[in-house]
Amino acid sequence: MTRLGGAAVVFVDDDGNRVELAPDESDALFTLTAELEAATVSACPTCRSRVVAVVALVDVLRAGAPHTRSSELVELAEEAPTLHVYVEDVTSRCRHEDWHDPGHEEWADALDDEPSLGRLAP
Ligand SMILES: [Zn+2]
Repeated sequence: MTRLGGAAVVFVDDDGNRVELAPDESDALFTLTAELEAATVSACPTCRSRVVAVVALVDVLRAGAPHTRSSELVELAEEAPTLHVYVEDVTSRCRHEDWHDPGHEEWADALDDEPSLGRLAP
């Protein structure tokens, strides 16, 4: 029962479907996928928050070593209503101030539709 409230990284599509990864799961995923680099469209330079392309994400997940949550992430990617899914680093207090390309705006818009994750107040 470490998952609820213990997510480190959350994958969200434009419909608000989400897959939450616990810290150990997200560390393993980022290691196995070389930080999702091949699928990343735009990323914050200082945290793990990023925009990923769904087709490339599926490729990366299938090409790499199996991860415990791969099938859920593949399903999220395959059913995403747009070409992108959004990764939020929920453990970081990063405000993404150095993330300047248009991907950041798209990412912020997508996550704005989400119910609050109960983020810690500043
Ligand atoms: Zn950031």
